Amino acid sequence: MWDQQSFSALCALARERINSGALPRCKALYEYIAHGSGKVCALCSKQIGTRDMESEALYESDPACLFHIACFDAWSHERRALSPGP
Ligand SMILES: [Zn+2]
Repeated sequence: MWDQQSFSALCALARERINSGALPRCKALYEYIAHGSGKVCALCSKQIGTRDMESEALYESDPACLFHIACFDAWSHERRALSPGP
């Protein structure tokens, strides 16, 4: 699993990607956790293996984002830090 240092690194990456517009800043309409589908994580760009769990963030208009659980946490953390509110 990710240690604290990796989590900080993921948060830094998430912040960068949110600021550059690569990742959404607003809260997803729906969030799911499911078994990995072998797709690529929207944050770390590594494959989410079928033995891993993945988090899926769905938006009304934008394409869905898939994350590792830890990457999703880092993204959520940075999202909340950048835009206070719900
Ligand atoms: Zn990831």
